[in-house]
Amino acid sequence: MSNSPVQAVRGMNDILPDEAGLWLWFEEVMRDWLGSYGYRNIRMPLLEPTALFKRAIGEVTDIVEKEMYSFEDSLNGDQLTLRPEGTASCVRAALQHNLLYNAPQRLWYAGPMFRHERPQKGRYRQFHQVGVEALGFAGPDIDAEQIVMCARLWRKLGLRDVALQINTLGDAAARQRHREKLIAYFEQHREALDADAQRRLHSNPLRILDSKNPAMQALVEGAPKLMDELEAEALAHFDAVQSILRRHDIAFKINPRLVRGLDYYNRTVFEWVTTRLGAQGTICAGGRFDGLIGQIGGKPAPACGFAMGIERLLALLQEDGMQSPPAAPDVYLAHQGETADVLAGTVAEALRDAGLKVVLHCGGGSFKAQMKKADSSGAACAVIIGDDEAAASAATLKPLRGGAQQLVALADLAQQIFCLKN
Ligand code: ATP
Ligand code: MG
Repeated sequence: MSNSPVQAVRGMNDILPDEAGLWLWFEEVMRDWLGSYGYRNIRMPLLEPTALFKRAIGEVTDIVEKEMYSFEDSLNGDQLTLRPEGTASCVRAALQHNLLYNAPQRLWYAGPMFRHERPQKGRYRQFHQVGVEALGFAGPDIDAEQIVMCARLWRKLGLRDVALQINTLGDAAARQRHREKLIAYFEQHREALDADAQRRLHSNPLRILDSKNPAMQALVEGAPKLMDELEAEALAHFDAVQSILRRHDIAFKINPRLVRGLDYYNRTVFEWVTTRLGAQGTICAGGRFDGLIGQIGGKPAPACGFAMGIERLLALLQEDGMQSPPAAPDVYLAHQGETADVLAGTVAEALRDAGLKVVLHCGGGSFKAQMKKADSSGAACAVIIGDDEAAASAATLKPLRGGAQQLVALADLAQQIFCLKN
């Protein structure tokens, strides 16, 4: 057996304490923001039956064809998959527990997703999403609200340079007509199709428009437009979304080639894109999926949602110079001597009761060594308890960023520390 240290799975990152502070801060902002729109949290398992994703996302998609971590449960032979996205699980949970029985639901979740992609900046095999789903809503108002909502988050985060692209995929009949025209068009240009496109020509020609292959771009550019097939109702829905966005002063670009990588979308689709993350520029994407609930066995109901990639969002913020808020304690408590050691534990608890962040020195050693630790902890002050202080029911309070130390009665200690902090 090898003796070298075990490494993490490729493309699956540790988020170390120095960076985790930024995650914690973001998660707090995110929860406030979601609450302010009345969305409620839902938590689903990371593992689902493979069939769920095949049915929900579509068999002929990048995710289902080549990105899923699927395996057979060796104990009972079940086919399982680590979730590659959250919408399918969220809808499954809502149906399984009858959440849509008599009310629509605004739901959100956050957590890791798994896709077997080539790892690179902004693209990992375990990554994190915040997902937002409005289940049971038909009108353009909710599509627009979700976009307005994103814009608010960007403002809250101080994010600049994210541009909104929108499109409509219309309804089933229009897509069918468009599909036939696309097949005819691509068949005429068979020799120019790459292997992926050849394979999808009949199974899912719309996906060809989503191709990232530069050699295919000109061909894709000239393809028949879905916009030309849209029914009046879908067009009116799209117009209404646009007028709400204008009312909220949200700039957008209509991108007729925006089709999204998952099959379940219809009507409104949108992406928030930046040019600052290279090819991994989409930080948030979503749209309407009126067919999905019925497709996975529920009573058909309209729905709309989006998901954002947390790694990409935080990478943008870091590029803007945002750093983890410092996680330093208020107090480092040094102690030495038999009585002092016992008292220190009680004092630390009392200071925490008062609302302070306290690191109690553990592991003994000289005061000199303990004070070194106090300095490098980043604490605002050290509290020092020796047996002399213990005998006097007091502690020495030493500011670590300048200022004289003083002997403070234990009863006044918390208050004195708060004075130092402010
Ligand atoms: P892309 O075109 O970049 O592969 P996608 O269309 O597959 O994205 P979605 O399924 O819409 O992505 O997921 C929503 C968001 O999740 C993306 O916009 C992105 O910010 C993030 N995301 C998707 N895949 C990854 C990944 N492998 N690593 C990091 N973030 C990701
Ligand atoms: Mg992808």
